[in-house]
Amino acid sequence: MQIIEKISNMQSYVKKNRLDDKSIGFVPTMGYFHEGHLSLMRIARQKCDILIVSIFVNPTQFGPNDDFDKYPRDFDRDKKLCERENVDAIFIPSAEEMYPKGFIAYVDMDGDMTEVLCGKYRSRHFRGVMTVVSKLFNIVQPDIAVFGRKDGQQLALIRRMVADLNFPIEIIGGRTIRENDGLAMSSRNKYLNSEQRKSASALYKSLLLAKTMIENGETDSFEIIAKMKDFISNSGDFEIQYIDIVDADTLKPVNTVQNKVMIALAVFLGETRLIDNIIV
Ligand code: AMP
Repeated sequence: MQIIEKISNMQSYVKKNRLDDKSIGFVPTMGYFHEGHLSLMRIARQKCDILIVSIFVNPTQFGPNDDFDKYPRDFDRDKKLCERENVDAIFIPSAEEMYPKGFIAYVDMDGDMTEVLCGKYRSRHFRGVMTVVSKLFNIVQPDIAVFGRKDGQQLALIRRMVADLNFPIEIIGGRTIRENDGLAMSSRNKYLNSEQRKSASALYKSLLLAKTMIENGETDSFEIIAKMKDFISNSGDFEIQYIDIVDADTLKPVNTVQNKVMIALAVFLGETRLIDNIIV
């Protein structure tokens, strides 16, 4: 397995494999791996000759009050896990390598899809994500790239960006991998104390509650969200940032549930921000 830090070395590696007619699968991450990340690697591994994983805690997607400095990192452990998943190359550039002095070209997405859900509360977050994903796509030139459905808005925006900017890349969404009690795996779960960790299972339970309501014929988003809020508030010391029901493809808010919807939420448990969603 190759560990590559420089963009120019990554480009040479990609060029060589392209000349050998190898297909390239790509999983971009911020590291500190859990089974969610590994599941995406397995999807890409099956579909391509060469599997490249990037590890880059991207400064431009963190706001001034976000956890950039304390975001968990453990490269030695990540490296071992990648070896186990038969990763061919890890791309781990520095922030200076990705954003050299004078950098000003950002990928900004306009309109409704960026202004709902997390986009409403984390201004410029998706600008940072789309910029770094575009840069990584240009450097790695993958045939396929795999992202988690856990970050539902991110996945929808990446699909849109790939279509709008004509990246010749197939985007695959991997299902959300959960702990035994339903909590979506996240590098940030490590921040939770034992009491918070216990109550965090209420998030997935609230999503299942909404799913059951819809399956039983409830169509009023307002009613569903109210029940979810009650359930979460009674399950622990949560501060709910949002619970929304949106069209699963366009992310437009839905008042009456008829077609495929994404039920998405973001909450704070103490300082820790957790997100989750399901598609119904
Ligand atoms: P991150 O390192 O948190 O930026 O995540 C890297 C990729 O892993 C993103 O595409 C995430 O959507 C995906 N991911 C994170 N958590 C999970 C999970 N629990 N299940 C599946 N994919 C996940």
